[in-house]
Amino acid sequence: MKQFKNILVLGGGGFIGGHLAKRLKSEGHYVRVVDLKKHEYFKENEICDEFLTYDLRDPHNVKTVMRLEVSNGNYPQSFHYLKQLFSKEKGFDEVYQLAADMGGAGYIFTGEHDADVMHNSAMINLNVAHECVKTKVGKLFYSSSACMYPEHNQLDPDNPNCEESSAYPANPDSEYGWEKLFSERLFLAFARNYGLNVRIARFHNIFGPQGTWFGGKEKSPAAMCRKVAEIDDATKIIGQTRPEYEIEVWGDGRQTRSFLYVEECVEAVLRLMKSDFTGPVNIGSEEMVSINELAQIAIDISGKDIKITNIDGDEFVNKYGFKCPTGVRGRNSDNKLYKEKVGWESSMTLRDGMKKTYTWIQEMVNKKKYGKSSDSN
Ligand code: NAD
Repeated sequence: MKQFKNILVLGGGGFIGGHLAKRLKSEGHYVRVVDLKKHEYFKENEICDEFLTYDLRDPHNVKTVMRLEVSNGNYPQSFHYLKQLFSKEKGFDEVYQLAADMGGAGYIFTGEHDADVMHNSAMINLNVAHECVKTKVGKLFYSSSACMYPEHNQLDPDNPNCEESSAYPANPDSEYGWEKLFSERLFLAFARNYGLNVRIARFHNIFGPQGTWFGGKEKSPAAMCRKVAEIDDATKIIGQTRPEYEIEVWGDGRQTRSFLYVEECVEAVLRLMKSDFTGPVNIGSEEMVSINELAQIAIDISGKDIKITNIDGDEFVNKYGFKCPTGVRGRNSDNKLYKEKVGWESSMTLRDGMKKTYTWIQEMVNKKKYGKSSDSN
């Protein structure tokens, strides 16, 4: 018989957290989501039974949201169900900690947000670790990032090393990566000293619809899709001369990455949670492409006639006023450990995931252009 659980998703107003909460709710669990902001694209009742808007940097807020009764409580009808699932000895069956101050290369690698990124995310994680132990949470999931891997192993775009065991001696190329490494160790220390039952995954570039696609915090797949979708009238017409259209791609375009479709990421997280393996373990795709290849996939999907223009060095600095924030030269997920310990691998190709993402972003671009709100809540 299926066991229904009481589940807390921190950061469920965001991209991955929203998809994860939606999946958990669809399986019949009682889902409470906490975030600074509502989800922009999912309706509240699609992803949870209760949505609480709280700042998790504040320890009092974390204490509140981890408990059954919440002080401002406007409880939904289904709340009595949560009451049945809660016991005196134990708080939430599962907590998924995805709340973090983060964004794409334009947010993480310019250096302008370093203090906020480190402070905000570390505060959240310190509070969460403490309250999970106090309320005897059944199991905690923590989303770390491939950004914690050492820069010196990611200099060759064709042969990056992101095996879990290569993490030390540590040398991440961003403060975001250092904070992730610190928080991994924080949760592992709580596991050793206070018996916290934790699972830790290092995500490698998760992408898909219902995520940030404009405004500076978007990741490269969404940015490529948006840039291509925003260009009108570039559809190929054989034999006709038309103006030249182009999209700008940061850096020389030869830097490599792999990208995992968000629903595959959610599946991998749930399987890790069911397993006995603590991690940290990579969750990503092993289909490595250059950033120009990623851009070309978006162009091919659109059927438009668009060329790629790379911008780097002084030209970039003169245009934007800061150094081109491309991150490491090469990065690819190494899934050996996940396969060995959890026994599953993702199957969706990058192109198929990009098709779904492009279709959704094209819809968002059209809504914006024709003045319709993209907010479905
Ligand atoms: P996201 O920015 O869409 O989601 C993070 C959510 O955390 C946001 O909704 C944000 O409002 C919330 N949040 C931030 N500060 C908060 C606070 N003080 N109190 C309450 N909520 C707060 O990001 P995402 O892409 O969904 O990433 C989820 C997690 O996965 C993050 O921890 C991120 O570092 C990690 N990760 C993501 C990727 C990726 O490719 N998307 C890669 C590696 C790691």
